[in-house]
Amino acid sequence: MAKVTPVNDTYPVSPPRAWAEIDLDALRKNLGVARAAFGGDLMAVVKAGAYGHGLEEVARALAAENIAFLGVANVGEARRIRMAGVETRIYLLGATWSEEREEIVARDWTPCISSIDEAEQFNRLAAARGKRLKVHLAVDTGMGRGGFVADHLPEKLAQLERLKHLEIEGIGSHLPSADEDVEFTLQQFDRFHSIIQDLGGPARFQWLHLSNSAGLLGYDPGLCNLSRPGLMLYGISPLPAFQGRLATVMTLKSRVTLVRTLPAGHGISYGRQFVTTRPTRVATIGIGYGDGYPRHVSGTGADVWIRGRRFPILGRVTMDQMMVDVTAGADVIEGDEVEIFGANISVAEIAAKASTVVWEIFTGITPRVLRCHHSVESGHPPS
Ligand SMILES: *Cc1c(COP(=O)(O)O)cnc(C)c1O
Repeated sequence: MAKVTPVNDTYPVSPPRAWAEIDLDALRKNLGVARAAFGGDLMAVVKAGAYGHGLEEVARALAAENIAFLGVANVGEARRIRMAGVETRIYLLGATWSEEREEIVARDWTPCISSIDEAEQFNRLAAARGKRLKVHLAVDTGMGRGGFVADHLPEKLAQLERLKHLEIEGIGSHLPSADEDVEFTLQQFDRFHSIIQDLGGPARFQWLHLSNSAGLLGYDPGLCNLSRPGLMLYGISPLPAFQGRLATVMTLKSRVTLVRTLPAGHGISYGRQFVTTRPTRVATIGIGYGDGYPRHVSGTGADVWIRGRRFPILGRVTMDQMMVDVTAGADVIEGDEVEIFGANISVAEIAAKASTVVWEIFTGITPRVLRCHHSVESGHPPS
């Protein structure tokens, strides 16, 4: 056996170079905005680690607010929520694997059904346990990702209703372009409504749901009594007109690790795409694409926030560090806290500069970034 040299553990712990502060009071406030705008019940979408905000902490905070469901992408996420002691009903937003269905039945998670085959398997598994599993009928009204296509739906529902160990308690569909195409989305609402009428009317189902954040904020809910907001809970409106109502939940932060003055004609970062044209005070910041900050913002004039002012990023973002022009900020010194995005630099602005969407920026923040949850109401200070 190789000998392990003991580590001297009296050295100080190396503080993280990048961290995300998550404001759970702001999360609760945004849930309240969703509730007020929709009127009906909510399924809070917490897939992908609550959009990078920390699955367990966010699930616990939202569960305490009396929501009808937590929406997750897969069984692994459902399991983590249960392990965290959360009792709120869990809905699986996407298709499930055959091997996962026994656990889904055993733990009473709620799947959406896209085929007769999967319904039959769920029915057999529920029969074996002597129970009735609540499931939702997924219909594809335009997303093209899952659910039954719209033709012959009444016959399909009749077939499903013959499976005595399933209870078809809900019907759901999904909006692909509620933040891009109003006309198509309105047609989709109409299509969903006529499907519901063809299947016996809204009273046939306990839960009827179609809207994501954009659908909830921008459209009349019609026959729906449940909505599935994700992004807006995390403080970003997919429809900019509603941004003012939402509170910032995540602030991504880092620190200045070094400040130097470089002479004119000095290249900065890989590829030397930026070369100074004057003596330049350059701050090095301890965050990079290895933390999930998008390398694609390189060269787009994206800013960071230090001591109450914006400063532009110079050259390419590297894996662990990036450089910022602080010539105009003589007061900027090593150790200064830097807001990468948050209340002052919107994550939406960074996403636009990186030619992507806020969903991808949030979920791309890597495990190296420490998540610190705080909440005034529960009395927990920022950790
Ligand atoms: C992710 C997802 C949502 C939430 O969408 P947002 O745009 O983040 O509000 C709602 N429904 C389904 C089916 C989803 O996959």
